[in-house]
Amino acid sequence: MSIHYTVKPLDPAGHIFEVVLEISDPDPAGQRLSLPAWIPGSYMIRDFARNIVEIHAESDSGPVSLVKLDKAGWQAPEGCTSLRVKYTVYAWDLSVRAAHLDQTHGFFNGTSLFLCVEGQRDKPCELLLERAGESSLQDWQVATAMPSMSVDDAGFGRYRTEDYDELVDHPVEMGRFERAVFDACGVEHELVLTGRYRTDMDRICQDLKRICEAQIRFFGEPAPMERYVFLVMVVGNGYGGLEHRASTSLLIRRENLPLPGEKTVSDSYLEFLGLCSHEYFHTWNVKRIRPAAFMPLRLSAEVHTPLLWAFEGITSYYDDLFLYRCGLIDAERYLRLLAKTITRVYQSPGRHRQSVAESSFDAWTKFYKQDENAPNAIVSYYAKGSLVALCLDALIRMHTDHQRSLDDVMQALWKRWNDRQLGVEDGTIQQLAAEIAGEDLDGFFQLAVDGVEDLPLEAHLSAFGVRLEWRAAESSSDTGGSPAKRDAALPWLGARFRQEKDLVVSVVLDDSPARRAGWSAGDTLVALDGLRMSLADVDKLLARCTSGDVLDAHLFRRDELLHLPVTLGATPKLTCVLLTEEQHRLPVRFA
Ligand code: ZN
Repeated sequence: MSIHYTVKPLDPAGHIFEVVLEISDPDPAGQRLSLPAWIPGSYMIRDFARNIVEIHAESDSGPVSLVKLDKAGWQAPEGCTSLRVKYTVYAWDLSVRAAHLDQTHGFFNGTSLFLCVEGQRDKPCELLLERAGESSLQDWQVATAMPSMSVDDAGFGRYRTEDYDELVDHPVEMGRFERAVFDACGVEHELVLTGRYRTDMDRICQDLKRICEAQIRFFGEPAPMERYVFLVMVVGNGYGGLEHRASTSLLIRRENLPLPGEKTVSDSYLEFLGLCSHEYFHTWNVKRIRPAAFMPLRLSAEVHTPLLWAFEGITSYYDDLFLYRCGLIDAERYLRLLAKTITRVYQSPGRHRQSVAESSFDAWTKFYKQDENAPNAIVSYYAKGSLVALCLDALIRMHTDHQRSLDDVMQALWKRWNDRQLGVEDGTIQQLAAEIAGEDLDGFFQLAVDGVEDLPLEAHLSAFGVRLEWRAAESSSDTGGSPAKRDAALPWLGARFRQEKDLVVSVVLDDSPARRAGWSAGDTLVALDGLRMSLADVDKLLARCTSGDVLDAHLFRRDELLHLPVTLGATPKLTCVLLTEEQHRLPVRFA
């Protein structure tokens, strides 16, 4: 007995998918159906059911009415011996998290399309994927990691999964895309690019192969998936990725792809490779090794865990590290990326207000719902989480004379999952790390995971033969990583801006000159030092000033003009540069 779904791009121009759900054995007490409120990997309530436009049901004896139970649930009448539910879904969210359909392509996550048959979530599911009716769209193809039963050359036809959770964990792309296949440790990998771009597919495949093989070997062969698909949507502006058990959906900018003939790894291509490395690492860390709180996954409401620092932070630590380990970048370039992460954490005062455990727990309402006060109030469990991972790695190496490392912790976590399917509890990683280090690490975890004080980065980086230096930011776009260029740093304003029609204050940092002057996020900066300002003008003006200078400032708050002069301060030295000590070599296990 399985649950049958049929999906058809019914009206691509109107962005409408039609779904038919057939249940041969509905609950006689009244079958309940519901659509998830969130998609695993993206910790925000998105209420996908709001995109269901029409829904109708029938049983053997004819049409039946569904009773709406709540924002995402329906119930069929008692006594139905079969149930067929037909509904349409509006799909116009160009992101990796939902569904998108037009004349150029279709993409969906199952969490946007497939109603869950409550009480039968463990049953096998079958999906019939149908072509769009339009004659102009008959050349569309399908890309997905979902196991197929009987499909045509283009990939339309029947698919089957073990259960509902697997059904919604294989996103589907359909359209006219470019596809390349490569092997990594005996596993077929597919790269699928949708959109308008010019690039070198062979080169991307070669680079991805190195990353994938390094990660499969890290956790140990055989890889836990039979096939893997990189589903990449290429757009002018946009960025994101979402992990799945045997695929990832990525949304990238055109310039993230290498140009045909290009030999070097540009910064924007490096960003793409880093994203691929990140999502691929999740194949183990979060898709399989996962919080006990996610077992089983409750998709109707928030599921809180203090552990996202481990699942996202450790993954963020290894994503760039694997680019270095598999030789795509050298140590110097790796350290530049690491220094940028450190800078990102240190330039936000929120790191002293929220621990990474709290940031994880409150991801739903804080990290995923950032407002103008976020830099003052929260810390990223990605960025700081990756620094916690770095320090933990260093600590284990120091305690074991470089015989053990965080690698051993990850491999132990993987073995624990692979052998016994155990979820990760709050203290699991702490305990494993202490066993591997042969030391009590409670003090470190209290500081790093539950605390808000800065991490002992200098001391820990020295374990890798790396020296950390702090300098002042030299411009508003200075993200760290490179040595100082100017003799004198810019004086400090402590405000960030966004250029709209006018120049708008986007963030005012706590304890900054702008805050003391009374500026607020949302204010329009009319004139600074008697001059009209654009985004570029602010840095130019500051470059001519020194700490202690008083600048006249006029700002609009709503429609009221405010005169709020600002006294410039000394820019705090929170921009990071990392240098290798010549007398040290990077430890072997780091490489
Ligand atoms: Zn992630």
